[in-house]
Order: sequence, then C-alpha cells, then structure tokens
Amino acid sequence: MENFTSKTLIVGSVALDDIENSQAAKTQLLGGSASYASLAASFFAPTRMVGIVGDDFPQEHLDLFAERGVQLDGLQKVVGKTFAWSGVYSENMNDRETRWVELNVFADFRPDLPQDWMQTEIVLLANIAPQLQLHVLSQVQKPVFVIADTMDLWIATAKDELLEVIKRVDLLVLNDGEARQLTGLHNLLSAGEAIRDLGPRFVIIKKGEHGAILLGHNETFVLPAFPLSEVHDPTGAGDCFVGAFAGYLAKAGGVPSTETLRSAAIAGTVLASFNVEDFSVERLRKLDKEQLEERLQTFRHMTSWPA
Ligand code: AMP
Repeated sequence: MENFTSKTLIVGSVALDDIENSQAAKTQLLGGSASYASLAASFFAPTRMVGIVGDDFPQEHLDLFAERGVQLDGLQKVVGKTFAWSGVYSENMNDRETRWVELNVFADFRPDLPQDWMQTEIVLLANIAPQLQLHVLSQVQKPVFVIADTMDLWIATAKDELLEVIKRVDLLVLNDGEARQLTGLHNLLSAGEAIRDLGPRFVIIKKGEHGAILLGHNETFVLPAFPLSEVHDPTGAGDCFVGAFAGYLAKAGGVPSTETLRSAAIAGTVLASFNVEDFSVERLRKLDKEQLEERLQTFRHMTSWPA
C-alpha cells in the first residue's frame, strides 16, 4: 500500500442529473461537481467529500464512493430531494444549455467540517455557490494548497462573493468563456494575468477539446486534450480534471512545485478523457490503475519530441 502524506478535501454538488445529447437521453444519473471530482481524486490519494444529499439518493451511489475509498463523514444526508440538474447538448457536444436546476436540499446547506478534516492539506472548492466555498474555506486550518473551480452562473449572479473566493485561493480553474466573462478580456493570456492580479498565484484556463493552459509567475504550460475518436457524454469533464489535479497534488505531498503542477494537469487531462467515454460516472466505475497508467504513457508519447 502506498504511503500517503497528504489528503484532499473536496466540497461541491452531489446531484441527480438528466442529460440529453445526440446519442441518448438519460435521467436520474449520478452527477455533481463533488461526485465527479472526488471519484477522480480517489485514483491518486485519500479523498474527503463534503456535500449534501436527500433521502431519495440511491444507496448504490454511496456504495460506489465507498468502494473507491472516498470518505463520506462530511456528506450530510437529510430529508428532502437531492440537488437535480438537467442539461442538453448541441449536436457536436461542444455547447450545453441548462434546462433546469432544482436546488432542493442545497437551499439550506451549511457544511460543517468534521473536526479531524479541518487540517486537510489540499482543498478543492469544486463548482458550487461561492458563499458555500467560503464557508468551507473558513473552517480549514492552514491548508497547503487551495484550488477553486467556478461557472458562468456565479460570475453573473454572485460576483462579489466569487471575487472573495478568488482572492483566497492558490489556483483558480475556469474555462475560456468564463475567463473572458470574468475579466472582459478576449486574449486568454491577458485574461489569465488579470485573474492572477485578483489573488491566485496560478490560473488554469480550460479550452474543452482544445486542452488547457496553466499560468503562473514565469510559468506557462500548454497541454492538449487527450484525442478521442468517440465522446459519449462530456458532463463532468471539468470536475474530473480538477479532482484528479487535486488528488495528484496530495499524492505528490508537500508544497507543489511547478513541475508537480504540470504533472497534475496531465493527470487531470487523462482522467477527464476517460470520463467522457460514457454517461455519468460509468467509465470511472470501471477504470483501473493499469488503464490509467497506460493512457498516461500514451499521452506522454503523443506530446513529446526529440531535443
Ligand atoms: P461540468 O460538466 O464539469 O461543468 O459539470 C457538470 C456537473 O455540474 C453536473 O453533474 C451538474 O450536476 C453540476 N452542476 C450544474 N449546475 C450546477 C450548479 N449551479 N451548482 C453546482 N453544480 C452544478
């Protein structure tokens, strides 16, 4: 058994999703930013999940988290309906619209960290209302590295709270459209620098099937997405990217170097590439460490060249 020095704490949504795309329409799928991110992180390091579900949440999903070793002491189970979200994709799956969102049990969620979780080294504030991200962050004592993810909704409706989150994290992860929306700048390098001026030492801007850029002081790392001939459901790719990224930092241990951040971005890219091969978390359910290792090696081969 590997000897882990660090753990990952992840707060975000745990959801039942209805998804429609050009291949299928499915209902009541396990979704949510914390679900995807925690399962992805669990391939690398011990993972603690903070969230809330209602009494309609199927036991089989809790069993899956437990099978992957995700610790659930911070997952509240209350009377009521689980957070639900419905999305519909364009024909080419590059664009997505939210059909509806039901906050349900999230409406009154005030996450309280278990006492012994307050000293978790790597903290991931996965996509969720910025007030809740702040509430969790305020309970963590001296984290080594804090990452936040967000979405267009919060830039539009909760910008002040989001700016407070951004000020307090080491790394902000967002997609290209969100970076432009947040800064008003079209050029992604300029947008990234403007975001770093708001507080975080590092920014990752994701560009969907076109990969991602990691920016820091004297640091620019560009990476493509892992090329796939078939995508079945892009939902949760971003959450898997950032979850695997956080898990990788915990596995590496200590204060992450820029080399570690680069490797974490590779881990995130490869983990996310598995997730889009099936609906919900079905591909992650079947994924094993050998398949993950093999694809990491393939990706290394695809992106390297002789000096
Ligand atoms: P992604 O495809 O990475 O953007 O993540 C998709 C997941 O985000 C879905 O499983 C949804 O349940 C979840 N989600 C959608 N809207 C929200 C929201 N407003 N707050 C938190 N999670 C959300």
